[in-house]
Amino acid sequence: MSTCNAYGACEAHADLTPMRIERRALRADDVAIVIDYCGICHSDAHAVHNDWGSTVYPCVPGHEIVGRVSAVGPRVTRFKPGDRVAVGCLVDSCQTCPSCEDGQQQNCTQGPTATYNGRDRHTRETTLGGYSESIVVREEFVLRVPAALDMRYAGPLLCAGITVWTPLRRYGVGAGSRVAVVGLGGLGHMAVKLAVALGAQVTVITTSASKADDARALGASDVLLSKDPKAMQAAASRFDFILDTIPTKHNVNPYLMLLGRNGVLVLVGALEPLEAVHGALLVMNNRSITGSLIGGLPATQELLDFCAEHNVLPDCEIVDVHGINAAFRRMQANDVKYRFVIDMASLRDVKVD
Ligand code: NAP
Ligand code: ZN
Repeated sequence: MSTCNAYGACEAHADLTPMRIERRALRADDVAIVIDYCGICHSDAHAVHNDWGSTVYPCVPGHEIVGRVSAVGPRVTRFKPGDRVAVGCLVDSCQTCPSCEDGQQQNCTQGPTATYNGRDRHTRETTLGGYSESIVVREEFVLRVPAALDMRYAGPLLCAGITVWTPLRRYGVGAGSRVAVVGLGGLGHMAVKLAVALGAQVTVITTSASKADDARALGASDVLLSKDPKAMQAAASRFDFILDTIPTKHNVNPYLMLLGRNGVLVLVGALEPLEAVHGALLVMNNRSITGSLIGGLPATQELLDFCAEHNVLPDCEIVDVHGINAAFRRMQANDVKYRFVIDMASLRDVKVD
């Protein structure tokens, strides 16, 4: 066992503070990682604030982890010290159920182990995430960062990226697809970049008129203001696929109306009761509404390789650990372009009482 510096929350409405945490001694199939960067996901704020009612404190968030291998257990075959690696939202699963065998560990029937606020499968202790100097992770849940990917920007691919990549691939988005992305934040801006890279024609639907130029710079061919009912009406039945990243309860009917024949709306943000869906909007045009949870390990490696090959990188603002609480507040005030990434080198010099 070892200890390291981390940043975490001790209760729901407190700021994150520095703390010392323990990392387990290496099991035979473990990889020890020195963390260089960690992205700040909106889910980190949901967890810290106990929005989903399941947070165990102290809570150390962070599931967009990028770093270097420092040591490996005796049964590890794919990694050696010095390798550039990444860890996303999952650190373990049963490995035997049909979902795990299919590479969809996020849907493990026994419940996957989340990178933070999860339960270690051996000790039952609460897992602690990437706002920390180091982490120990089972080999199967460690990803390789291709040499062509800039480590500073790779982090947000591990959650924001894979969460949008999974439904884009599941629904075969590609050349000729008419795609709309609702909400231009961490997930949304990755969805625009990736859908464009796959050849789709992309529209951004936003509450923020000020983001229109950014949306076009990211590759969108059109921008719709969701607060403009006339513009929304004029876009009725226009899209094949809509990705809805709004983080809170909202009315999906104005977006469903925009789907054409057999169109699909994929919800990834609001994990709470929604306003009632109008049945007629589903029946007309054979529309569907569905959801999607992050993605499996093979798909995440595929995404990292795709982004290296196509030079697709998130737009990041890099902050040091002293800026974490300010970054949380700005993210919740919709003031980030488009992902905060913490430079973990700044955590090494923090003195914890
Ligand atoms: P984010 O960076 O804060 O972006 C969310 C965007 O949604 C904002 O930039 C804003 O875009 C729009 N928005 C915010 N509040 C809104 C409101 N009340 N009404 C309409 N639009 C609103 O968040 P994120 O990191 O992308 O995460 C988005 C959501 O996905 C979060 O709830 C997060 O927990 C969830 N998530 C889900 C999964 C999964 O597996 N399903 C994985 C990761 C994250 P505009 O300014 O363009 O309107
Ligand atoms: Zn996340």
